[in-house]
Amino acid sequence: MTTTAAGASPLAPAWLTLPEDQARLEAKLWAEDVERGDDGVLQIDGVSVTELAQQYGTPLFVVSERDFRARARIFRTAFDDAFRELCGGVDVFYAGKSFLCTEVAHWVREEGLGLDTCSGGELAVALRAGMPGHRLGLHGNNKSAAEITRAIDADLGRIVVDSLQEVALVGDLAVQRGRIANVMIRLTPGVHAHTHEFIATAHEDQKFGLSLAADATTEPAVGQGPGDDGGTSPAHRAVANALAHPGINLLGVHCHIGSQIFEPEGFELAAQRLLGFLAAVRDRHGVELPELDLGGGYGIAYTEADEPRPPAEIARAMAGVVGSTCRELGLAVPRISIEPGRAIVGPTTFTLYTAGTTKTVRVDSAGSEQGQAVPATHPRRYVSVDGGMSDNARPVLYGADYSAVLASRPPEAAPVLSRVVGKHCESGDIVVRDAYLPEDTGAGDLLAVPGTGAYCWVLASNYNYLTRPPVIAVADGAARLIVRGETEDDLFRRDVQREPATDPGDAHP
Ligand SMILES: *Cc1c(COP(=O)(O)O)cnc(C)c1O
Repeated sequence: MTTTAAGASPLAPAWLTLPEDQARLEAKLWAEDVERGDDGVLQIDGVSVTELAQQYGTPLFVVSERDFRARARIFRTAFDDAFRELCGGVDVFYAGKSFLCTEVAHWVREEGLGLDTCSGGELAVALRAGMPGHRLGLHGNNKSAAEITRAIDADLGRIVVDSLQEVALVGDLAVQRGRIANVMIRLTPGVHAHTHEFIATAHEDQKFGLSLAADATTEPAVGQGPGDDGGTSPAHRAVANALAHPGINLLGVHCHIGSQIFEPEGFELAAQRLLGFLAAVRDRHGVELPELDLGGGYGIAYTEADEPRPPAEIARAMAGVVGSTCRELGLAVPRISIEPGRAIVGPTTFTLYTAGTTKTVRVDSAGSEQGQAVPATHPRRYVSVDGGMSDNARPVLYGADYSAVLASRPPEAAPVLSRVVGKHCESGDIVVRDAYLPEDTGAGDLLAVPGTGAYCWVLASNYNYLTRPPVIAVADGAARLIVRGETEDDLFRRDVQREPATDPGDAHP
């Protein structure tokens, strides 16, 4: 007897294909050492997820140390190779905000990368791991004096200043400490890249960085060159002030145009605009600033539909544009740096959940034909797991898509359109909006969601008083805890508890 294959659901988004072989893993979504064992159970470097779940519980963040190190190295070598002839190579700063703990900071240091932080707390983690100050950066649009002082005292490689006030604050604090701060100035090049396209504008409407555009109140000077606004832009004033400040060693300029970017064009345009600015600085101030940071934002695959470019391809495209623009402007090629976060850590990690309650609802198919009295309804299966928006806020925050597979046994039942949801008191608490999962997926099964290395654990919360999950690293066929999970005691750690009042009304008669 043949069962009627459930078939593709009309409710599924166009990009989602009905899997022909549910056991197959889409390679681009997973760390390199994740595979299905002969028993059909997902394993990482030979360690099965059922063992991991038994030992550490779920939800669980599972990081492949080898994959992290490999991706860090790929960024370093791809960009070094592409830029070697132009400027000797590229400095890669891992963006710690995407995922950071002391163990990961050790990996970053050992792989020869720098590390970017954007708060005193992130800086503390990096320093605790023994990261030398000269390999650290500090970002932020509203750094406190305490954060800046700490950065100055640690002799940071770069403090990326974000406003005219901050130029003065950093310089003055450095003078007070008897030091000179290494500074880059964050500019807004008017390029916003988002995944498949970018938009270019002259003016910026966002909180980060200093504008390249001339002050609206000031007439442009006659005969100004590219990137030259006659010195009236906030960017030019910041450079002038930084160059004049005895507490500041001005290294260069910085931009970060967005995140989850697949195509190189946005980076290329930003590089052109910033190089134009560096040429204008040379013409106006007689200095060629030695460094240019082009930020992070390199995209990864969260679903089968995402097709990120290999780092080497993006690096070559960017090097081509940097080289030709510098030649046109007669500018010595500055030392380039980049700041990938997501693209290094994102694919190294999956989250392991245990499934619980399931239910199937029937949903009207969108756009029913005219004249059709009763629109057709189609099943959507809800599979609830033991975590949710407290360990992955990205679907709620950005409508982010993810993928999921049945991990603890071979997926044999017919695939049905499913929605993996969390256990929080929000109907928006979705982990994976659309995935085909075997129709018998249910209580006790383990589900694995790949691509959760970046911006998941760091955004975790205790919403509904759930405990935040542990993070384990797998390397050389063994798992070890790198961040322990919270316990119920942790939930009370900051709660200032008082003795219960003795209210006679509380007593039972
Ligand atoms: C967030 C951020 C990054 C990293 O972005 P990814 O998309 O994770 O690569 C780099 N630089 C700055 C300034 C950032 O704010």
